[in-house]
Amino acid sequence: MNTKVFMLFADCIPVAGFKKAVICDLGRGQMMLIPKSLYHFIEEFEGADVSELIDTADDDQKEIIHEYIQHLEDRELLFWCDQTETTLFPKIKPRWQSPGMISNTIIEFNPSDAYEEVLLELNKLGCSYYQFRLANLAPNTLEPFNLLVKTLYEQCQNLNMFEIIAPHDSQDIDEQFLESMKKYIQLRCITFYNHPTNSQTIVDTLVVKYKAHPLTKEHVKSTESTANFFPNYDFFFESKHRSTYYNGKVTIDFEGRIKNSVSDTKSFGSIHTHSLTDVINQPSFQTNWYAAKDKVKGCQDCEFRYTCFDTRPLTFNEADQLYESEIACDYNPYTAQWAN
Ligand code: SF4
Repeated sequence: MNTKVFMLFADCIPVAGFKKAVICDLGRGQMMLIPKSLYHFIEEFEGADVSELIDTADDDQKEIIHEYIQHLEDRELLFWCDQTETTLFPKIKPRWQSPGMISNTIIEFNPSDAYEEVLLELNKLGCSYYQFRLANLAPNTLEPFNLLVKTLYEQCQNLNMFEIIAPHDSQDIDEQFLESMKKYIQLRCITFYNHPTNSQTIVDTLVVKYKAHPLTKEHVKSTESTANFFPNYDFFFESKHRSTYYNGKVTIDFEGRIKNSVSDTKSFGSIHTHSLTDVINQPSFQTNWYAAKDKVKGCQDCEFRYTCFDTRPLTFNEADQLYESEIACDYNPYTAQWAN
């Protein structure tokens, strides 16, 4: 006789934390909190015969088992099949790979610096996303910046999108700048900070943001609530192998220093004196790239670890072979509580 068993859809992946668990529904980009007991139930009985368990369970346990299965069914997370068919539904292998060494770059634009070589190197390294931070919209900044964008557009075939962050000038100057830039279809977002108001408009594929607050270089905690989590395939599987914040990232600050991120103080070299590729190839430059959440103290016990975009500074503790951060996360996986 064929025994009917339940299976979770391959893209619905349970992840256990210290106190709670989640199911990441990567196809629909959703995440559901579940009790640890349901996680263990799935782990033990997915693809297995539950009838024996139900036969030997008392009434309360039977009710819980039925509730568990109903819960998963209602959310379209499971399907039923014959036990002999389970091998026809393999799980997704947790592979992740990137075509390039660098995926994203932040450049604090300095009009006195020449960036053509840097852009060509970044393009060779596979960079597809750029963020440019301008100190002002004065003509002696915009003239060389226009040349930079022209080089990016004409000579960097790996360019997928770029973003500009600049201080608000006058309304006329902001609009003139916007007008000069919006011809580039890869430009996805311009943010004017220090603006009198907060607002946002969308023109075709370009998002224009006006922000009243100043631009800060401080580490912004991006893990203040589950609204900042990304339950999708790329993010989930990259998180299993790398830090989704640091991996493939390079920053060049206003002084030309090459760093891991804008808020870092540590510099690994300068575009004035070093080849960017040589600096990026230094093992120490890439240390934080490998800070997969399973290797970060605290995060390794968190149920959100493969969906959470964490921008905190990290150091590698050789003795523990773990990464750690001096900045505590707002979520405590050991109590399953958010800080107020
Ligand atoms: S503990 Fe780590 S994985 Fe969990 S929410 Fe905080 S930063 Fe993200």
